[in-house]
Amino acid sequence: MFFFGRQRCLLLLVLCLCTLFTNSVRAHPILVTEPHSTPLGAHASFLVEHGRPLQLRQAYRAWQDGRFDRGDSPIASYGIGSSPVWMQFDLRNPSADWLPQTLTLGKTWMDHLHVYLLQDGRVLRAWKAGDGQAATAALVPGVGYRLPMQLPPGDSQVFIRAQTPDPFVLSVFLRSQAETSAAEHRVQYGYGVLFGFLLALICYNLMLYLGFRSRSYLYYALYLASFIGMCLSYSGHGFSWWWPEAPGFQRFVILGSMVLYGCCGFLFASCFLKLQEHAPTVRRWVIAFCVAALILMVHFVWIGSHVDAAVLAFNFVTLFSVTMVLLGVLSIRHGQREGRYFLGAALCSMLGVAATALSVRGVIPMTAVTFHGVEFGIMLEATLLSLALARQMRSQEEALRNARRLYRIDSLTGLPNRCAFYEDTLGIWSTAVRHDRPLSVIMLDIDHFKDVNDHHGHQFGDQALVAIGDLLAGSCRAGDRVARWGGEEFVLLLPETTLAQACRFAERLRRAIGNCQLVKGNNRIRLSASFGVVQRGYQASLNELLREADRKLYEAKQQGRNCVVSARSLETA
Ligand code: GH3
Ligand code: MG
Ligand code: MG
Repeated sequence: MFFFGRQRCLLLLVLCLCTLFTNSVRAHPILVTEPHSTPLGAHASFLVEHGRPLQLRQAYRAWQDGRFDRGDSPIASYGIGSSPVWMQFDLRNPSADWLPQTLTLGKTWMDHLHVYLLQDGRVLRAWKAGDGQAATAALVPGVGYRLPMQLPPGDSQVFIRAQTPDPFVLSVFLRSQAETSAAEHRVQYGYGVLFGFLLALICYNLMLYLGFRSRSYLYYALYLASFIGMCLSYSGHGFSWWWPEAPGFQRFVILGSMVLYGCCGFLFASCFLKLQEHAPTVRRWVIAFCVAALILMVHFVWIGSHVDAAVLAFNFVTLFSVTMVLLGVLSIRHGQREGRYFLGAALCSMLGVAATALSVRGVIPMTAVTFHGVEFGIMLEATLLSLALARQMRSQEEALRNARRLYRIDSLTGLPNRCAFYEDTLGIWSTAVRHDRPLSVIMLDIDHFKDVNDHHGHQFGDQALVAIGDLLAGSCRAGDRVARWGGEEFVLLLPETTLAQACRFAERLRRAIGNCQLVKGNNRIRLSASFGVVQRGYQASLNELLREADRKLYEAKQQGRNCVVSARSLETA
């Protein structure tokens, strides 16, 4: 019994010591004469307010009673909708003089920041900052709130009460004025590069839209603009420059702009990936998702529920990132070539968001790259999406070029078709008329071709047409034009050629066609063709000349086929 009692006493003693150790062992005071490049979270202790708001006096007593917990990461993070948090840290100024230092508190979206500098329990100075009140000179867009302070010699303390329903991320730096301005300049140059890059892309895509009238460019510019809008809201640039007197607007503008950003992203994705064509049901779901988010956001703004709006905005943006990746996968499955770029872009953006979120939570080390991951992600995403748009433009151009080629070329024989023949020969006709030069036309038609098809099959008929097309193309001079006029009828236009020369040429062709043997199984099949030949004379137009050649061809058919009939004389084989 005694032994058990002694054991119990020992245990209690150890427990008491542990409690004393964990609660009352304070972090070493921060030596203010040394540079501190990392945020001070790990040097501070914290108390989450539960119940009624605490006054400084009560918070101080709670700290004295050891109710503050040691911070375990450089940046204090308490998630969305957190209760107000008190932060405390000790400072030591070993010099005999007051020391000027700058306290920088991030992020700009913190609603209320109450900062107190104390020495020996006495308040030396107090500050108020945050975007829950009209913007003051303390607000540094992209950075946070800058509070210049004079630190007394010896030991002093800082107490901070921070409150926001938005993601609670409190990074506190204590630096010299020179270090502070250098750090601020780095951030601002970074934003300059980001905004410059995105603005250039917006202008470029708007110009492409004006030039090509393709909505993808317009929606892409809109998507980029919505990102800039969101970035300007959460970085505090908008609050500082445009609505410093409207903290009520500032409360919701970040969250509203996040939902708008997602909606613009979906609008672009829907148009770029042609969801209406490839996945109409997915498109309907995406629209319903956006409309529901917009309605809910308007509702939360209307009833003034900041926490609900924040939860909605962050969940919406997370689902947006995931959905964009899924849409990329879907487009690849549908065989869209641009889908690969889109998926890469969506993954970059998602990884960027993840890097920022994980670094803020202390899961991965916080560096300039990880913390600004979301911005790097969007720059990579923008670059890949621009490439995707360029790729799409190239595919469209290739398709157009192909369509133009098919529009001019006969797909069976590879010869120009009637339309291309007109386009190519009008210039030749006018030159011949202007200089009164000879110009002849040969029109030819394969004899009894219907029987060839009937006896040997349509496929064999096609092969015969190709063979004759090749023969004609191979027999022409460089300046001559040959085309498939339609069916089994061909036309040749011969510049600088008299009727007699054209007739001789037609005769050579007639013989060549007659000698051409087409092989089908064991059979050798011979074809023949009839020719109508005319030379430009009194005709007012090329069309008239062609009509006359057709008349002569008809005469050749009447004359028993396999012959050449010219405008002046009948020349039979
Ligand atoms: P004619 O000597 O009076 O010209 O008699 P024909 O049988 O050649 O003339 P007709 O106008 O009666 O028939 C033309 C045939 O040509 C009928 C059609 O099926 C065939 N034809 C037209 N275009 C093609 C084609 O691209 N491929 C094949 N295989 N046959 C074709
Ligand atoms: Mg025929
Ligand atoms: Mg015919």
